Amino acid sequence: MPETLRLMLDWTHRLHSLGEDFFTRLQPQAMPGPAWVGRNTALLDELGWPSQLLGDAGLQALAGNTLLQGSDPVATVYSGHQFGVWVGQLGDGRALLLGEAQSRLGPQEIQLKGAGRTPYSRMGDGRAVLRSSIREYLCSEAMHGLGIPTTRALALVGSPTPVYRERAETAAVVTRVAPSFLRFGHFEHFAAQGRKDLLQQLADHTIAVHLPQAHKHAPAWKGNAYAGLLDEVVQRTARLIAQWQAVGFCHGVMNTDNMSVLGLTLDYGPFQFMDGFDPGHICNHSDTHGRYAWDQQPDVAYWNLLALGQALYPLIADVDLIRAVIKTFETHFVREMGNAMRAKLGLTGTLATDEQREADWLLTQELLQSLAKERVDYPLFWRRLSSAMAHEEGSWDMQAPHWRDVSALWIQPQAFQAWLQRYRQRIASAQPMALGQAMLRTNPKYVLRNHLAQVAIAQAEQGDFSEVDTLLTLLQSPYDEHPGFESRAQLPPDWAAHLQLSCSS
Ligand code: AMP
Ligand code: MG
Repeated sequence: MPETLRLMLDWTHRLHSLGEDFFTRLQPQAMPGPAWVGRNTALLDELGWPSQLLGDAGLQALAGNTLLQGSDPVATVYSGHQFGVWVGQLGDGRALLLGEAQSRLGPQEIQLKGAGRTPYSRMGDGRAVLRSSIREYLCSEAMHGLGIPTTRALALVGSPTPVYRERAETAAVVTRVAPSFLRFGHFEHFAAQGRKDLLQQLADHTIAVHLPQAHKHAPAWKGNAYAGLLDEVVQRTARLIAQWQAVGFCHGVMNTDNMSVLGLTLDYGPFQFMDGFDPGHICNHSDTHGRYAWDQQPDVAYWNLLALGQALYPLIADVDLIRAVIKTFETHFVREMGNAMRAKLGLTGTLATDEQREADWLLTQELLQSLAKERVDYPLFWRRLSSAMAHEEGSWDMQAPHWRDVSALWIQPQAFQAWLQRYRQRIASAQPMALGQAMLRTNPKYVLRNHLAQVAIAQAEQGDFSEVDTLLTLLQSPYDEHPGFESRAQLPPDWAAHLQLSCSS
């Protein structure tokens, strides 16, 4: 039994009230020689939790060597579809839920990812390697900095403990924080087991604790609160995927067990922010058929929602109703995606009739086609376009440095320049400089490109964690200029073209 660390956390543990059909109580496995790799003091302040949590005593607790007093660690059970195939029981194989505690952001669950084996580890060692943990730590906060719903990362602890993947690596534990880590797979699990009683208990809990909006939606669905629950998940998922698409994010492993019921980005693996724009981009080297390619993500989300809808069938008991709820994904997604792209183009302040939305969508598609044709760097394009607009005084001189910067991203910029003429007609009398200012708050300067993470990882593996810190700071405010750090906002170096990321973590 590990020692306990007394901290003034106000534990609420609402998930625990579901009972032991939903989880297994267990202790974290000790991890010798822990050291801080990253401490997210900004998040600690947001949460209003005691500073000792990121101090010496907290280090042992977040490594799993001591227990936070009042915590009640459990691993939850879930199932899921991986790459479109039902695989049955999975569960928290290496994540341990310490419990739920009050915070200034509302009640938050605290998880240690990589804290050792659980009854759901199957053949795994219950550990996570430093490399993938740095990626999760940084990307969680990058997503949050971009305004995209996500689980958060409070701390990253490394250790010399060896972990064997394709090569020998070392262990690390990420402390994750979220209002809930409930996945589609939690619902699929109890449905597959034929346990309608437990499924209903889980759904009632989810509605009561996390998604009371289900009641608001129910009247549209014959008064069925479970259809209302599905509706809320559909809406949140549509919004999430639209935001991923707009920023050029590929999740890489959109299995149903990695889909958050709260519509959060969850489980960072071989994700990637695209460099050159390629709609069919596959970021996960293990995804040989491109199931999770960037342009497949909306369809996969829909497929995953069908799996959730099927899991909820015993409660909703009306196939047509389930189909109708899920079908609304299309409308929500098209609206959210349209809004997200209009915002990137600085068009949010302007009139939005249906015709205008349709025209804006066509304008966006033409632009994306032009980007795809030459694999133009996606983040740089949007930032340079924003910057050009912010400098444009009305002469629209394509030889001015701010427009030359944009055109330089193409070998043959004529198609882009023709597009720009149509865009100018669209914005009509609007002030380009004002639009540009808004665009600079919408199109980030700093995104966690693979090569940036890779540099931070290589240095951390040599014991230097400074780049992890630097990236965290940049990514927490990605729309700011951060003078002196421009090298982290440039095109990827040539070596990055050969980076391959698999599910190995
Ligand atoms: P993922 O692909 O990371 O979403 O994981 C899929 C399933 O495998 C989940 O049930 C994980 O908990 C489990 N898992 C992944 N890696 C490990 C590991 N090293 N040890 C134990 N379980 C793992
Ligand atoms: Mg997972």
